[in-house]
Amino acid sequence: MLDGLDKQWIPLTTGVRAVTYSNLPPGSYRFLLKAANNDGVMSDEIASLGIKILPVWYKSWWAIILWIAIAITIVAYVTRTIWHRKMMVAKILMQKADFERQQQAEEMKVRFFVNLSHELRTPLTLMMLPVDELLSRNADPIVTNKLTTVKNNTLRILHIVNQLLDYRRAEMGMFKLKVRKVNINVLVKQIFNSYEAMARHKNINYTLDSTVQNPDMMLDRDYLELIVNNLLTNAFKYTPKGQSISVGLESDGQKLRITVSDTGCGIPTDKLDKIFTRFYQVNDTNSGNGIGLSLVKRLVELHHGEITVDSAIGRGTTFYVTLPTGAHAYSAEELNAGKEQSANNITVDNQPYIHIPEMSDPDDSDDKLSKSTDVAESHKATVMVVDDNSEILKYIGDSLAEKYNVLLAANGAKAIEFLSTEPIDLILTDVMMPDVDGVQLCRAVKRNLRTSHIPVIMLSAKSDISDQMEGLGVGADDYIPKPFSLDLLKAKIRNQLRTRARLIDMYSHSTEIEPSKVAMNPLDEEFLSKAIKVMNEHIDDSQFSTDAFAKEMCMSRSNLHLKMKALTGESTNDFIRRVRLNKAMELLKTSRYNVSEVSAMVGYSTPSYFTTSFKKHFGYSPSELVKKD
Ligand code: ADP
Repeated sequence: MLDGLDKQWIPLTTGVRAVTYSNLPPGSYRFLLKAANNDGVMSDEIASLGIKILPVWYKSWWAIILWIAIAITIVAYVTRTIWHRKMMVAKILMQKADFERQQQAEEMKVRFFVNLSHELRTPLTLMMLPVDELLSRNADPIVTNKLTTVKNNTLRILHIVNQLLDYRRAEMGMFKLKVRKVNINVLVKQIFNSYEAMARHKNINYTLDSTVQNPDMMLDRDYLELIVNNLLTNAFKYTPKGQSISVGLESDGQKLRITVSDTGCGIPTDKLDKIFTRFYQVNDTNSGNGIGLSLVKRLVELHHGEITVDSAIGRGTTFYVTLPTGAHAYSAEELNAGKEQSANNITVDNQPYIHIPEMSDPDDSDDKLSKSTDVAESHKATVMVVDDNSEILKYIGDSLAEKYNVLLAANGAKAIEFLSTEPIDLILTDVMMPDVDGVQLCRAVKRNLRTSHIPVIMLSAKSDISDQMEGLGVGADDYIPKPFSLDLLKAKIRNQLRTRARLIDMYSHSTEIEPSKVAMNPLDEEFLSKAIKVMNEHIDDSQFSTDAFAKEMCMSRSNLHLKMKALTGESTNDFIRRVRLNKAMELLKTSRYNVSEVSAMVGYSTPSYFTTSFKKHFGYSPSELVKKD
């Protein structure tokens, strides 16, 4: 019997002297043995043998302790890792939410400012216009001085407002790069010049130095204007009186480097990397908003260039802008956009970006345009002004009323209504209007044969250049960037009316009607070509009346009359006579026909009537012409 395993004695058969135990679990046992005699009587003496079965090593107590320790360690490690990861995720989520909240707050801030800027632009324009007008009328130097301060400060707010709107546009990708050939020397000189008054006023040694030999470069001029203007504005802002500011231009044929350098207050070295951050200002007490340089940086990047700065406190600051100038640096889209812009001939040459003008000279603020006698004002032309802002509408209306009959339309739909009932010589329309906007109005005007000859001038913010493109794309004759000066507005109206008058004048003095020279748009050109063709087909028909003519032209008699009058300054009858007499002149000049033959050939019933008409028209009789030749 094995004590610890067996419960009772195991009898062995006679002769067998062995027992076998296998797979004994580890532990202590005692092997007990009792012998029996031949009669089967058991002895009381028990022999015993202690047996100890040792466990395998990995089941030994120390191994088990080790296993438990390892297990605890693993569990602890896994738990810690999971916990740690969870904490990390929570932290990242919190940071993300925080970042998003910050972004949202910033977005809201910018959106608020942008909305405010939009709101501010109209009242600022309304302040600028009367001040401009008072300045141009007033001769008292004290009043002029005070008005100039008002004007300069208004311009200053406008500058900030525009900067913010430009920034927003650049950020939202609305500032599409439009690359085309630009004469960099001329452009930078123009911008440079617009700060000369301020330099004089602050007694600043102000210089421009260009070593560029081939100044025609592939660049976006609007971008360039904004970049240089912002850098110069800062230079003037942070450079005290009597110091220097210089602008430099260099090029290696591939890249243009613009340097704007000043000997002003400088920027601390540890702040240099932050100045391009939005809303960052080195010194909170500075006037400004911390947008200028971030806008510049964004624009430089969009122009595939780079900007660096070098500055030392008390010694001054130099900004280096490097831009590519070869076509290969730009995408096809950027190059095409530039081509389109050139085709539409949109330039802003005369509209330097408004810079901080608080120190400009009073005598320079007066940008009066030369006033010459008006050709078109022998009769009062009718100008229709369309704007949804009633104050602007009234102001422009009052200002134009002296010289023109003015029609005021509060929206595009009203303007279209007026077009069908009133004779209008020119339309001045805002672009942004609810429902029918300026672009739609212009399209409606230019696509209708009855109205296509009416010049359309669009009023729009300079930063809405895409609107202007759209406006000119639908046939607008000119645009005026907002905020506008009343003098510029009047001059542009006068120019448009004068161009029309000049065309009519040229038409009335020529012996040949050339539709392309008389008409200012394809629709009118087509109309005139058709009118000439119809007349030539009926030139020998003395019975061909204005009624028949109107029928052939698929128009009512009155509409034909109105259109003829607008395009040529003459009635339909005068037009018919002019075509007949021009033809007569041409035939007589060939010397192949006599007067009475020509008279019949151009549809005159009697030679005497022909002769009288001819003389009245050309100032000499047909026979005199024959003699002359
Ligand atoms: P701000 O409207 O404040 O001028 P900017 O973004 O144009 O905003 O400039 C950011 C900061 O960089 C300014 O607050 C100014 O401290 C510093 N700075 C920019 N240009 C110059 C300069 N030419 N000289 C000295 N400091 C400058």
